[in-house]
Amino acid sequence: MELTIGWLYPKLMSTYGDRGNVICIQRRCQWRDIPVKILPLEQTSEAALFLQADLIVGGGAQDRQQEIVMRDLQGSKAEALKNQLDDGIPGVFTCGSPQLLGHYYEPALGQRIQGLGLLDMVSKHPGPEAKRCIGNVVFEITAEPLRQELQAMTGETPIVIGFENHGGRTYLQTVSPLGKVKTGYGNNGEDGFEGAFHQKAIATYSHGPLLPKNPFLADWLIRTALEKKYQDSVQLTPLDDCLAQQARAAMLKRLE
Ligand code: GLN
Repeated sequence: MELTIGWLYPKLMSTYGDRGNVICIQRRCQWRDIPVKILPLEQTSEAALFLQADLIVGGGAQDRQQEIVMRDLQGSKAEALKNQLDDGIPGVFTCGSPQLLGHYYEPALGQRIQGLGLLDMVSKHPGPEAKRCIGNVVFEITAEPLRQELQAMTGETPIVIGFENHGGRTYLQTVSPLGKVKTGYGNNGEDGFEGAFHQKAIATYSHGPLLPKNPFLADWLIRTALEKKYQDSVQLTPLDDCLAQQARAAMLKRLE
């Protein structure tokens, strides 16, 4: 078995450290002797390259970079990404990325950025004077079947710990929320929802980076990608996550 990680616009969408998600998946595969290839999907990439990804990671970005990305993510590239995710290729998209997977993102300044319309949601920045949503975030995953699959994997209620830093506010229409906020702002600081979930794609405002703080999510992504690619059940060798567990316990105690 081997895994190819498609990394969306790494030069433009790594402002908030989400490359840590790519590194986490890569290392958790290598520790299990699963060869990993990292495939940058960027302005110079052809649409066909998007179809080579077994799993897709998208990070966060400032409004300006998001506008540049959407000028490129059009036509056959946009279709390739949408088809991959609609077809159940797993992915994890943080902040600026999922804003572009919705119908549109209205940045703090400038014109509305049309999104892919894959996720039935919209995002709006209330303007440069508005308070940013910044701080630690804790949320409970509610989206099914993800919640049940994570509970079966870990034997626990799936609680995610992260860090958010966004001006944009996201409003879900028919797409499922990823979870319900316990600490922090989440999608908009009003409706108590955090993120979105579509097929096998996780959309969240949680940086951190997300996956090292929540290794069970990394393993869910790896297992889901390998099971889809090889059309067979996959059992991942357990890893010693005691340091991550200690860090999580400390953060949950601090934030309760
Ligand atoms: N520029 C977007 C916003 O401010 C996304 C920020 C991010 O990716 N952290 O909401």
